[in-house]
Amino acid sequence: MDFGFRTINEFNDYFKDEKTCYTFFEGQRWTDGVTCPHCQSKKYYKVKPRGKFQDIPSYRCANKNCDLPFTVRTGTIFEGSKVELRKWLHACYEITTSKKGISSVELGTRIGVSQKTAWFMNHRIRTMLVDIQSEILEGIVEVDETYVGGLNANRHKNKKKVGTQGRSTVDKTPVVGLVQRGGRVVTFVTKNTDAETLRQIIDNNVSDSATIVTDAYRSYSTIGQAYKHVTVKHDDGGYVVKIDNNKFHTQNIENFWSQLKRGYIGIYHYMSEKHLQKYCNEFAIRYNMRDKSNVARFFHIVKNSSVPRIKYRILTGPVIDEMPEFIVK
Ligand SMILES: [Zn+2]
Repeated sequence: MDFGFRTINEFNDYFKDEKTCYTFFEGQRWTDGVTCPHCQSKKYYKVKPRGKFQDIPSYRCANKNCDLPFTVRTGTIFEGSKVELRKWLHACYEITTSKKGISSVELGTRIGVSQKTAWFMNHRIRTMLVDIQSEILEGIVEVDETYVGGLNANRHKNKKKVGTQGRSTVDKTPVVGLVQRGGRVVTFVTKNTDAETLRQIIDNNVSDSATIVTDAYRSYSTIGQAYKHVTVKHDDGGYVVKIDNNKFHTQNIENFWSQLKRGYIGIYHYMSEKHLQKYCNEFAIRYNMRDKSNVARFFHIVKNSSVPRIKYRILTGPVIDEMPEFIVK
């Protein structure tokens, strides 16, 4: 099979019908053969569904204690949705190949579903956008925080108050980001950015031997007790610190923040606090897979799809700002 799709037309030509999509997804999910998602049994009966589902490979578990029906969608984020698998795969492709994210309006138009459905699909797919690599960051690690939301989110650095590093927190949610030089970014939505919170995140994610680069924010002032620590003082206009032959700066994490904020302003218009970590994960995985092909990104997401699905009810919850993307400018 050639999965070197260069265009969406080639993608759609390959995934031409439901049967092809199910067969493809079975090959990705069940590398060891058909497996009951309820009890992991490898013994099953084939079932012949009727009507419009007759082309969909369907099974019943042969374990007597289980005996449940299933398809390859069972136990994945595609379960329980009336939308064809073909459209789900198309949506995965669109989301993973878009450089800056994709709004539910645009996604709905491209795959042929309503905006409400696209919004839900976008959120479900975003739950798969967790970075499965979990290794510790090493070498030179830039650490910084930003605030998402509120009116001053995108205010230029030189307009921010001296000494606060632009940290005005009204109506905003703090996000802490760590980037390994030449490597991955990880992000954490936090309640605050006090020294204890930042230290905990660094301890959990960074190697003891790493050199940490931050700006002069006071919550970082004790990092040097446990790590090699270089402080870049933006207030002095000193954006790069040279020590021996190494240049230390926080430009990578700042570039990541600007991508996140461009997405916030240009694509999504609004990210609710409740879903902010998922948006950050989406932008992080896009950053971390920046050297990978579109197809590699698509495969990553498809292989990652066996997560407990979120129910629409839970997703929309009691919070009133849940469906911001319905507000279309
Ligand atoms: Zn079973």
